[in-house]
Amino acid sequence: MKPKKPDLHRDTLAVREAVARSHFGENSEALYLTSGYVQPSAEAAARRFAGDEEGFTYGRYGNPTVASFEQRLAALEGAEACISTASGMSAILMMCMGLLKSGDHVICSHSMFGSTIKLIGSDLAKFGVESTFVSQTDANAWKAAVRPNTRLLFAETPTNPLTDVCDIRALADIAHNAGALLCVDNCFATPALQRPMALGADIVMHSGTKYLDGQGRVMAGALCASESLVTKTFLPVLKSAGMTLAPFNAWVVLKGLETLDIRMQAQSDRALKLAQWLQAHPAVAKVHYPGLSSHPQHELAMAQQSNCGGAVLSFEVKASDADQARARAFHVLDSLQVLSLSTNLGDTKTLVAHPASTSHGRLTEDQRQAAGVVQGLIRVAVGLEHPSDIQADLDIGLSSL
Ligand SMILES: *Cc1c(COP(=O)(O)O)cnc(C)c1O
Repeated sequence: MKPKKPDLHRDTLAVREAVARSHFGENSEALYLTSGYVQPSAEAAARRFAGDEEGFTYGRYGNPTVASFEQRLAALEGAEACISTASGMSAILMMCMGLLKSGDHVICSHSMFGSTIKLIGSDLAKFGVESTFVSQTDANAWKAAVRPNTRLLFAETPTNPLTDVCDIRALADIAHNAGALLCVDNCFATPALQRPMALGADIVMHSGTKYLDGQGRVMAGALCASESLVTKTFLPVLKSAGMTLAPFNAWVVLKGLETLDIRMQAQSDRALKLAQWLQAHPAVAKVHYPGLSSHPQHELAMAQQSNCGGAVLSFEVKASDADQARARAFHVLDSLQVLSLSTNLGDTKTLVAHPASTSHGRLTEDQRQAAGVVQGLIRVAVGLEHPSDIQADLDIGLSSL
């Protein structure tokens, strides 16, 4: 008999949790590039396809490297199970296809990720899914939006790009009182800082493209949830719709998880330093960062995010009107010598972006205003460069406005 696995700390799980080693005894998890699997017998194949026996059958349904990533992420989030997808957006699509039907209702905040607003507010509306978008930070607005057909509350905290924080526990209570589920998009905080399941969330959604990989290399997505939601509600969607995570991408993100904690700590430290410096800069009108005591939900963020503000901040350049604000923001971006002008986030390289013309560019002006994404806003996803070099590079544009 194998000895019982000890209860391990999250640090240990981050480098150890995976499927069993192969008979070769590899220490680093193997990358299994195969689309099919040879079955031990016709009877075994029949049982596996019927779901009566564990075992891989086809690459769209599962792969050992992909399973290692799923097990490790589930362990970090404190979830029973995890199912991965080709991107963060396809994880949201899988969740909605699994949980919702025509006539069901979803509540989200105005300040969700731009593509999420588009997917739920427009694309799913074509299939009869209703949605209401409410204030990120006002739990009463979420409660007031509940209808008899509400099936899902979907929150993202902190948000992109304004870092608004919502109260996960309060939203979980509202969802459960309504007989609905709460999903939290945990891209920005990651399980290194915030574990929504412990606060009552039913589903945690990830874009593995961001901090889980952490080095800007591959696309990936995932949903963490109960064993029953994963196997009965989401896996059937994966099998028929095929938003499968590629084994190579799963392997890259699996390796990224090993350093997630130390990266998040180091990048958050740099973000706090940068936020404090920007706050004192004469060309800056406002800084949005949960780690600053000036942030409206600072205390909630500290309690919910392991006393850490995270690695993303945004700031507004001073200007007299929207046109000047846009021109000034563009000047700061075009003056960068070291940092990357890039709309991605979650990289070791600091990425700087203008949300109003990129990530939120597909929204209508009304939707953008509701999300607070003004023309002078610049988002910085802080990486691992030396803090002085990050400041100096932003200062080239800021000090020459
Ligand atoms: C990037 C992102 C997504 C979408 O993930 P992809 O991997 O790009 O599909 C969803 N939510 C948030 C908060 C994100 O930053």
